[in-house]
Amino acid sequence: MGLDITWAVDWVRRSAEVVAEHRVELIRLDRDIGDGDHGENLDRGFEAVIPKLDDLAAGSTPGDVLKMVAMTLISTVGGAAGPLYGTAYLKAAAAAGSDASLDGPAVARVLEAARDGIVARGKAEVGDKTMIDAWSPAVEAAAAAAEAGADATAVLAAAASAAASGAEATEPLVARKGRASYLGERSVGHRDPGAQSSALLLQAAADAASE
Ligand code: ADP
Ligand code: MG
Ligand code: MG
Repeated sequence: MGLDITWAVDWVRRSAEVVAEHRVELIRLDRDIGDGDHGENLDRGFEAVIPKLDDLAAGSTPGDVLKMVAMTLISTVGGAAGPLYGTAYLKAAAAAGSDASLDGPAVARVLEAARDGIVARGKAEVGDKTMIDAWSPAVEAAAAAAEAGADATAVLAAAASAAASGAEATEPLVARKGRASYLGERSVGHRDPGAQSSALLLQAAADAASE
């Protein structure tokens, strides 16, 4: 079964919930190696997204939802993560196109487009201790699952699981991009906040699909 507008709206609602729930944790992670605003910034962004769900026109597609999220995050989140997530959702929206429903391969392409958007914008590579360390393994796991014939729900589950492992694997890394890079070696031993929030958002996507 493909993922439709109901999934997209549910993903957004769950994203707002999970970001609110983990707000303090994300603030704490960002306080360790950044300026402590990541949880607050993201929470503000998703809080602004929720009322806009009511303005979606009848017949809206997952791509329309992703585009609305992109525009809202760009104008409300700020910092490094605002434009990065904004670009991710914008590229994801373009990849989803006007399809009413996304199957396994389509979901894999949407995630890849999001990741590529973050890379184009932030120029981070795998191992730089950024959100890319969650996104890249997620994209690879999604592509492998889709290739093996998994449906959209299973593709998202694979992506979410890989993103969680990827976020955890940022702990021993030295940050080479963003604010945390100013700390150099002192960034070792801390999980990257953007990788953690990315894993949470992908888990929300998987949870929305599995219901
Ligand atoms: P700021 O650092 O401006 O306060 P946030 O705290 O909201 O922004 O976001 C920090 C997160 O942004 C980091 O944890 C990291 O995952 C991500 N990030 C920062 N710079 C880059 C980059 N160049 N490429 C990818 N991700 C990045
Ligand atoms: Mg910050
Ligand atoms: Mg900041």
